Amino acid sequence: MGADKAGAWMADFAAQIHDNADMLTDLDRQIGDADHGSNMDRGMKAVAALAAADFPDSGAFLKKAGMTLVSTVGGASGPLYGTFLMRVGGAWPVEDSAEGIGVALRAGLEGIIQRGKAEVGDKTMVDALTPALVAYDAAAGEGTQAALDAAAKACAEGRDGTTPLVARKGRASYLGERSAGTQDPGATSVTMLIEAAARTLA
Ligand SMILES: [Mg+2]
Repeated sequence: MGADKAGAWMADFAAQIHDNADMLTDLDRQIGDADHGSNMDRGMKAVAALAAADFPDSGAFLKKAGMTLVSTVGGASGPLYGTFLMRVGGAWPVEDSAEGIGVALRAGLEGIIQRGKAEVGDKTMVDALTPALVAYDAAAGEGTQAALDAAAKACAEGRDGTTPLVARKGRASYLGERSAGTQDPGATSVTMLIEAAARTLA
């Protein structure tokens, strides 16, 4: 099996990012510096160019994917996505299981929180990922697919919930009250990541 599933996950995410790069950059133009889509597209193209078959397992592949994002994506996104994937890879289960994948995703979220120091309500990717993992854990007893589907739905709801929030982290926070009314770009792209997981990892 090697890293087939993780390779499919990253390939799906790379395609979503590429197809939505202009939309992500437009969101970032409104409350950031107009580079989220182009940055992530550059990084995920580099990840998609990695050959999953060259890696012994999904954990090793995801760690390399994370390192690749750190070295190719500037701004806050590279370190945050890179940390997420390195932590997920480091905690990836030897035998795929709903519980094991949940533990790995949780390790990734904790890495993002450590690195970015954001809390729920700050208008960041944490507002989408946190409810996603709560929903994942609640559905994990029904299997990996059910857990990932529940996570993707909750992630999208969390993403939508960032629109009215006033940003308290990152460049968007410089705008103060004017950051309200725009969906957070990071919460938007991370929902694509979890939706890609629901299509590929079970
Ligand atoms: Mg930006």
